[in-house]
Amino acid sequence: MAQTPASSSSNGLLAGIDIGGTKVAVCLARPGGAGAAPQILDRVHQPTAKTGGPDALARQALALLDEVCARQQLGRAQLAGVGVSSCGPFVKQGGHIEVANPNICGGLAGAADGPQDNDWVQVPLQAPLAQALGGTPLHIANDAVAALEAERRWGALTGVDDCAYVTWSTGVGVGLCVDGRVLAGRNGNAGHAGHTFVGDVSGSAPVCGCGNRGDVESLVGGGSLAARLGVEGPALLAAAQRGDAQALAQVRGLCTLMGRLLYNLVATLDLARISLGGAVFLHHQALLLALLREQLHQHFPVLTRGVQLVPAGLGAQVGDYAALALLSGQASGTR
Ligand SMILES: [Zn+2]
Repeated sequence: MAQTPASSSSNGLLAGIDIGGTKVAVCLARPGGAGAAPQILDRVHQPTAKTGGPDALARQALALLDEVCARQQLGRAQLAGVGVSSCGPFVKQGGHIEVANPNICGGLAGAADGPQDNDWVQVPLQAPLAQALGGTPLHIANDAVAALEAERRWGALTGVDDCAYVTWSTGVGVGLCVDGRVLAGRNGNAGHAGHTFVGDVSGSAPVCGCGNRGDVESLVGGGSLAARLGVEGPALLAAAQRGDAQALAQVRGLCTLMGRLLYNLVATLDLARISLGGAVFLHHQALLLALLREQLHQHFPVLTRGVQLVPAGLGAQVGDYAALALLSGQASGTR
């Protein structure tokens, strides 16, 4: 059984588990040299388990871990460490992290309002993984915070002390760093700005999986677009990219709301650079980046002048590297 801390191991492979509202991915990687990113060797993924018992998610993560280990002819116990980058929020149950995410847990929005076919309000993560992994080092952090760590180590935020990582995907998540310190907060849930408000909230506003009406995630999250706009996000963005006037107007509307969130972050924390990732953003970044820059910089120039909005340097692999970043040295988002 591996007892050596991953940060000091040069031989054992690392595993990264990326848990999102849409999919769960597990990769195996060889640790990088000094300052270098790990080398990803193999990767498997599945749609996120949302039926069965509340332990379905942890069982799925372990099954995928076993699958990718088997492909590399390894056993779990030979791993030097396992990093888990998971969508939040997190809640503690008996001192162990459980996941209370509205895109996984159908019971969070209240009766019949939730988008999922289950009544879970939280699902176990840390306890079953720790039990299955024995003495292998295990580090779990919020996915946007872990992605921020990865972007600060190997991506677009290296050398920037005041920065954020924003993911625009099924949901909207944020990791924050001020004065060189990654923010955690009371329950490690700092950065859940997808559940903040950016406009008028009326009774007709859509309900987020968290129970809020009209928060950012319910208005622009990829998981909300079909119900709200009558068109799936990828189709809408592709039409806008082709120049379809109605689609472009709708996408501008989304960027107005997302731009308010970005402005609020900059105005609150005096940020220098924001790295953007997530499937919605990355698949259409040429269009969205220009619109978001326009939105951000039209607000209070004293605060926004010179603030850089950039695509995630690690691109679509930011989720894999996020989990692996938790195993590389002193990741301050680890808990
Ligand atoms: Zn919400």
